[in-house]
Formats: sequence, C-alpha cells, structure tokens
Amino acid sequence: MFQSKLSKKTAVVTGGAGFLGSHLTDRLLAEGFRVIAIDNLITGSPDNLAHLAGNPDFRFIRHNVSEFIFVPGKVDFVFHFASPASPIDYLEHPIPTLKVGALGTHNSLGLAKDKSAKFLLASTSECYGDPLVHPQSEDYWGNVNPIGPRGVYDEAKRFAEAMTMAYHRFHDIDTKIVRIFNTYGPRMRLRDGRVVPAFISQALNNEPLTVFGDGSQTRSFCYVSDLIEGIFRLAISEHHGPVNIGNPVEMTIKQFAEKILQITGAKVGIEYRELPVDDPKVRQPDITRARKQLNNWSPKVEFDEGIRATIDYFRIKLGT
Ligand code: UDP
Repeated sequence: MFQSKLSKKTAVVTGGAGFLGSHLTDRLLAEGFRVIAIDNLITGSPDNLAHLAGNPDFRFIRHNVSEFIFVPGKVDFVFHFASPASPIDYLEHPIPTLKVGALGTHNSLGLAKDKSAKFLLASTSECYGDPLVHPQSEDYWGNVNPIGPRGVYDEAKRFAEAMTMAYHRFHDIDTKIVRIFNTYGPRMRLRDGRVVPAFISQALNNEPLTVFGDGSQTRSFCYVSDLIEGIFRLAISEHHGPVNIGNPVEMTIKQFAEKILQITGAKVGIEYRELPVDDPKVRQPDITRARKQLNNWSPKVEFDEGIRATIDYFRIKLGT
C-alpha cells in the first residue's frame, strides 16, 4: 500500500466510470487513496463502479467536465481520463470529444492548480496518427489528418498535451502525460466498436468476424492491469514528458481475428469490410522511456492469458 490510513490522499478521476477510469479507481483505492470519480456517463457505465457502492473512501459525481468542475475539500491528484475513446464513439460524439479534450482538460488542470494537486493526462497513441515512424517513440511528432473523422479525437488529445505542458511550464503544476496504446480487458463495452469487443462478441454470438480492409494493418494489445501498473508508476514519478505505455507485441488484425477464432472455438468465417478513413496502418509502442523512467516497467500479461480473461468477462455479459 502506497500510504497509511492517517495520511489518506484524495484523487479525482475524470471519466471514472469508463473502462480505464474504473480500473484506475480500483487501483488508487487499493493504494489507500480516497477517490472521487466524475463522469457524465455518455460512454462510461455505472456498472463499472457498482462494486464500490458503500465504500467510504469512494464518491461518484455525475458531471460533464467540459463545464466548470467543483470539488469540495483537498485534492492531491487529478487524473484526467474523461473522453469518448473508441472510433465509433468519437464519430458519434465529435463535438463533445473535442470539448472534453480541450475544455475538459483546461477545467481539470484548473482544478489541479486551485488545489495544488498533481495532474496526469490520459493521452493516446492517436497523437502519432498514421505513423511514418515505426515503432513509435515519444519524440516522434506524428502524422495526423486534422480534418479527417479521427481528427476530433487526435487533435483534441494533442491540444490536451499542449495545454498540460503549458500549465507545467507556466503555472509550475506537477504534470504527467501517458500515451496509451491499444488496451483491452474486462469492462470494455460490448458494442464500443473497437476490435477486441467486436471480435469477441461476434465469435461468442456465432457471427462472422468483421475485418476492416484486408486485415494487414497492425496493432499491439496491452492487458489492462499492465497499463494501470505503468500509469500508477508514472503518477508517482518525477517525469513530465509524455510516456508511451503499451505492449510492444504486434500483430495484424487478421492474425488477431484468427486468434479469437482459435481461442473461442467459434466456427465462423471472416467478413471483409471497407477500411475506415485514416485508419493507422501500423502501431507499436517503443517503451524504452517507460522502462527507464518507471523502474523497469514492462508488460507482464501474455496475450493468451489476457484475452482468455477478457473472453470470460464477455461470456458473462452476453450470457453465453
Ligand atoms: N477493426 C476491424 N474490425 C472491427 C473493428 C476494428 O478490423 O470490427 C480494425 C480497425 O480498422 C483497426 C483495428 O481493428 O485497424 C483496431 O481498431 P480499434 O477500433 O480497436 O482501435 P484503433 O486502434 O483503430 O483506435
């Protein structure tokens, strides 16, 4: 445990009802923090926090952090995780996505400044866009189409990083930035459109897996507990520049589909669909900086183990 009962620190987690926000909330409570989760529930779900009902160290506030954030009392840490985060979510909510990356980040930084709290921004590998450098290290500035459909997310997060560094440099706030690569695990939404829940629920429902394009595009998938470990280490580190957290084991989407078929035993085919606009062709984190700065952090959960745990979660959700 990170701290004793007597000196409990308070953390605010925006997006606390989301997939990552709720896992981070669990980790912070386990480390002895009091946690205030804030979420407007446009993509988050109260189910992700239901197990915390009655926990005296936990509080939930339903609020859109793109509006002024009021939190009474002391706050030691602000974790800004609020944002639609899957391609279909930010295509459905383009303006709230831009607002939460811009105004929501400004308000969260304002809260951190007012409370003299530390601040951690959940940023993304989408800052690298459709990358021309492979694997991606933090000093690569990216290849983003600002006016394409993904621009609402990518540019909002790039703006959020710029705003975070401005508060660090100009207001001397102790800030950190994590660039999160594809992450999976329990509490992903069944129909958030991302490839992990999409393929698993298709396989469990005996439907063909929808591979976009020819499936040769690559992604590198990190299990949620490894990601949260990296984020927690970053939060208590002295590092202010962006840090990639992800699992460098890379595969094509076609290979990923075949893995899901093999592990679930589903006897279904693959249905090819059109590749979405600006879909990155490759993605793999260079985690040299995380290893160096975060006490030799590296992912521990093997793909097969993580994906089985995720499939078990989806089986329960789907009742299959
Ligand atoms: N993808 C796919 N079928 C689906 C959903 C996604 O082939 O049903 C592909 C998508 O085109 C992308 C990759 O899987 O190349 C990962 O997509 P996801 O939405 O999970 O996140 P991204 O990494 O693109 O942000």
